[in-house]
Amino acid sequence: MALIDLHTHSTASDGTFAPGDLVALAAQKNLAAVALTDHDTLEGLAEARTAGERYGVDVVSGVELSVADGDRSVHLVGLFLPDAPGPLAEALAYLRSRRHDRNRRILDKLRECGIPIEYDTVTALARGAVGRPHIAQVLVSMGAVTSFKEAFTRYLGTYGRAYVPKDKLTFGRAVELIHGEGGLTVLAHPYILGLAGPALAETAGRYRDLGLDAIEAFYPEHSQAQTLEYLALARKLGLGVSGGSDFHGDAKPEIELGRGRGNLRVDISVLDLLRARQAKRQAGLAPDEEKGLDQPPGAM
Ligand code: AMP
Ligand code: ZN
Ligand code: FE
Ligand code: FE
Repeated sequence: MALIDLHTHSTASDGTFAPGDLVALAAQKNLAAVALTDHDTLEGLAEARTAGERYGVDVVSGVELSVADGDRSVHLVGLFLPDAPGPLAEALAYLRSRRHDRNRRILDKLRECGIPIEYDTVTALARGAVGRPHIAQVLVSMGAVTSFKEAFTRYLGTYGRAYVPKDKLTFGRAVELIHGEGGLTVLAHPYILGLAGPALAETAGRYRDLGLDAIEAFYPEHSQAQTLEYLALARKLGLGVSGGSDFHGDAKPEIELGRGRGNLRVDISVLDLLRARQAKRQAGLAPDEEKGLDQPPGAM
């Protein structure tokens, strides 16, 4: 059984493996395919693709965006992006520049808390999208906090002393940008919605009507019951299914590439179905009815 991983982060955003090293690791773990889905940047994709050719791993070009649905913040993964995307790349560049403004405001607040940090120290830690994880890393290394978790609880998290909200695209605009490049949109880690049953179905149905293509049913934090609910819901709504570990290397050491917390299994058939769905979308046709994903492929 060939396994894949359609949600990973490299040093282009807040992961700790360079894109090429991440693909080499995928090959070492016998993964047939891996999607690089860095936050707000396509910076790592060329390197990942080159490594994919070298190691015989099918590399899918992706990105992860934080998007606003009213007051709710959800994450969208875009998959199957082209090498030289136009309007999407411009939007990402804008989001990264807004990140710099936000990061500087966070540092201003930290300074008011008696913690002075030079912004260069933070930007030195990332190639593409710079954010709170990098500031957390600095806070840990300077001894202002003892852990990443403490950095978020005390300072950087929603209820922290140095919290500054992030600018986000709306759900609809993000979908439009990804579709504009011929990509597919995936609702990442749906468990963060905190919804189940009819409320989940209503929200996911609304997302489908906004152009959502697939749900990330296979994810390390999902219980088997959640995975089954997401699979059934995707089928009911005519949505596709995706899955991935959200690998971040040493920034999330408990998550293994391709295997999550040890029991994640995303079969290559998941990718084949998504590709078929993308081909239909590009041809302007409705997706085929998908059968056979009601049960998670392999043991859970
Ligand atoms: P940013 O995009 O700059 O807002 O940073 C978001 C990233 O910070 C997420 O993708 C997580 O990796 C990390 N993060 C957010 N909240 C926490 C938390 N409470 N503890 C640890 N990491 C977190
Ligand atoms: Zn991340
Ligand atoms: Fe996410
Ligand atoms: Fe992620």
